[in-house]
Amino acid sequence: MGCAFCAEVIPQYFKLDKDGMAILKDGTRRGPLFHAEALAIDLDDINEAAEGCATNIISVD
Ligand code: SF4
Repeated sequence: MGCAFCAEVIPQYFKLDKDGMAILKDGTRRGPLFHAEALAIDLDDINEAAEGCATNIISVD
């Protein structure tokens, strides 16, 4: 929904497109979702973004 929280917390993984919607950088589509590799050192920040995401669309596995 373009709240930009993800892009503020982990800009190395998310950015907003020209329409103000979040994009997972270097993400590859798997079915309806996008996946990307992340560094373990970023895990705390990624979890913060996931927990603060207004739409609960960010998950970590
Ligand atoms: S709703 Fe979630 S994915 Fe969308 S911009 Fe906000 S934090 Fe990012």
